[in-house]
Amino acid sequence: MLTPVADRVFVHQSELLRNNTVVVHGTHGVLLVDPGITATEMQCLADDLRALGLPVVAGFATHPDWDHVLWHPAFGDAPRWATADAAAFMHDLRGRPDWHDRVVEGLPPEVIDEVPLEQFGLLTALPAGTTHLPWDGPAVRMLAHPAHAIGHAALLVVGCRVLIAGDMLSDVFVPMPDIAGAADPLGDYLVGLDVLAGTADEADVVVPGHGSPGDAAALRERVARDRAYIEALRGGGELHDRRIDDPEPGWEWVRELHAGQVESLQRTSGRSWSSSTGKETE
Ligand SMILES: [Zn+2]
Repeated sequence: MLTPVADRVFVHQSELLRNNTVVVHGTHGVLLVDPGITATEMQCLADDLRALGLPVVAGFATHPDWDHVLWHPAFGDAPRWATADAAAFMHDLRGRPDWHDRVVEGLPPEVIDEVPLEQFGLLTALPAGTTHLPWDGPAVRMLAHPAHAIGHAALLVVGCRVLIAGDMLSDVFVPMPDIAGAADPLGDYLVGLDVLAGTADEADVVVPGHGSPGDAAALRERVARDRAYIEALRGGGELHDRRIDDPEPGWEWVRELHAGQVESLQRTSGRSWSSSTGKETE
């Protein structure tokens, strides 16, 4: 089901992980951001678009995680853009002889048989320095920034005042810094949040990669909440976060995700943390 969130902008949500696919209505068709997870869901979206007479003229992957780089033949063969770093990451991965097994290993068991991998990660790099997506539709500013994953980019659909945040600013997931990949994952995350905060006067709607879209006030609240989370992980204060303290039914496992992050940070930094408070204990 396509849900309008602003003029010319629609969201299609996956059941598992509440992945949001964003559809932006252009002059000759649509831009599809993070197309979805299961073959059935993507086929459903393709059918909805066909019924509206809207071909897919471009795709965009906000970052090179499995749930953001999928595609379905029913979408056709439009270019699937990403930042140069994200496209290179996927190119390297697909160049490994065991890429398919490695991807399957990382899939949630609930959807393992439903995720189509034939066109997994076939991304086209946008040249370094790209500021706007090269398409015929509402201007879309690309905001490449460090934080969650290498090559992560948010998109601001300028005239429609919509921020597409990728795996940032979620109401169900706590921030997930790139602990395995970045030298300074928490510092990078704060830089990323600053980039998103910089769009606050230009957006009336925020669509996270997972969870509920929000309004301009929600955008500001989510930036503040995610900053507080990262600051707490850095040892700067106690952590009170509804996503951990009082998660939505079915999302209790985010507590374990949080505890896992605390543990990984402890391992990489050699410091000692308490997972219940996020405070350094030494
Ligand atoms: Zn994701």
